[in-house]
Amino acid sequence: MRQALSYLALSDSHSDERITAWERRYALPCADRRAGKEILGRIEAEVREIPLPLLSTSEQSQRGKSFRPVTRIQMEQGISNHPRAKRILSHFPGAKIQEIRHYKDAFRRGADQSDSAPEAGETGQGRTLILAEKKGTLLYPGAPVCQSFGNRYFYYASQIMNCIYDCEYCFLKGMYPSDALVVFLNLEDYFAELEALLKAHPVYLCLSYDTDLLALESWTSFLREWNVFIKEHPALSVEIRTKCAATGFFEEQSPSENLIFAYTLSPEPVARTYEHSAPTLASRMAAANAAMKKGFPVRLCFDPVLYCADWKKIYGAFLDEVMETLDLSCVKDVSAGVFRISHGYLRQMRKKAPESAVAQYPYRNERGVACYDPGLEEEIHRFFVEKLTKKIGNEKIFWWKSQENCDKVET
Ligand code: SF4
Repeated sequence: MRQALSYLALSDSHSDERITAWERRYALPCADRRAGKEILGRIEAEVREIPLPLLSTSEQSQRGKSFRPVTRIQMEQGISNHPRAKRILSHFPGAKIQEIRHYKDAFRRGADQSDSAPEAGETGQGRTLILAEKKGTLLYPGAPVCQSFGNRYFYYASQIMNCIYDCEYCFLKGMYPSDALVVFLNLEDYFAELEALLKAHPVYLCLSYDTDLLALESWTSFLREWNVFIKEHPALSVEIRTKCAATGFFEEQSPSENLIFAYTLSPEPVARTYEHSAPTLASRMAAANAAMKKGFPVRLCFDPVLYCADWKKIYGAFLDEVMETLDLSCVKDVSAGVFRISHGYLRQMRKKAPESAVAQYPYRNERGVACYDPGLEEEIHRFFVEKLTKKIGNEKIFWWKSQENCDKVET
């Protein structure tokens, strides 16, 4: 009930009238536990029908959270002489440098907030960057909440933890104890582990789930190194998921048919309300076009689709705009799915963001995955497929379905 009321307060300007109506309709307070359970179910179902609010155009232009600059760099002992550390450090000449024993000493709850507050003369909150080496296993089997695109050997790697963008629905907020950016410099160890796997079978690797690697390329240059490695290993396919608008990488690099850039696109009102500091829809589409023109495979991701106010109108106009701007016959495929998240991560997100409607929405808990009601998910699915199949074959549309995937999720 508390969850339903939290969301109601954020999403319905007439929440008091609605509560008064419930009190009358259900003769609250209810007589016993059984009646209470039934009434709660009805109230939850009613609240789930209230779509996520979107900012008006004027609110959107005022909101725009800006990037938090890197003001402090923490490095594991002995790493400062690493060539990749030197290259990264040269991009942040003003940052305060500290040595740490192990990245986990700094990447913990409370460490970032207390230490990276702005100093005199700085505006806004600074951000901590941690440079480290990752030990142990570096490649993990792909998570069931993610699309495998039919690839049997589906893995992901977390070479950078956390993102410069600030999407309100991002699972990283629930997964990590700190919002410091952690960059692991030992690429060679990732390459060695991949080579061992590639001896046994092909590998499909998602490299950019826990960050936006392309958005950090100007100071990491990691993708340049990956591009070389991918070209030398034809049995390896790598997906880079991104919202980045930069096109420098495509201008400078020769394409690899196995380096896929997966552009996450959202309607502009959704992006401005819930994807803080991420590039506009128009600039993401321009970047996707630049990648395709250069010969890089491009995947379009309509994921997560949010159940927002006027969703049919908003997503309908959005899909029309995407199909007018991008030649869908040239994209590799399309990935789509409604918002879903591990319930454990959602609990953390709700604690951190009590004012976020997307975190506070009373999702259904389907075997450990927080998701929308199946009827709503199916309606959104049908809407998307009907629109998209005018321009792209159904076999190229990969839709993530809760009913088929939730039982594989560990929480
Ligand atoms: S761009 Fe992706 S990784 Fe970055 S904050 Fe948004 S959802 Fe998270």
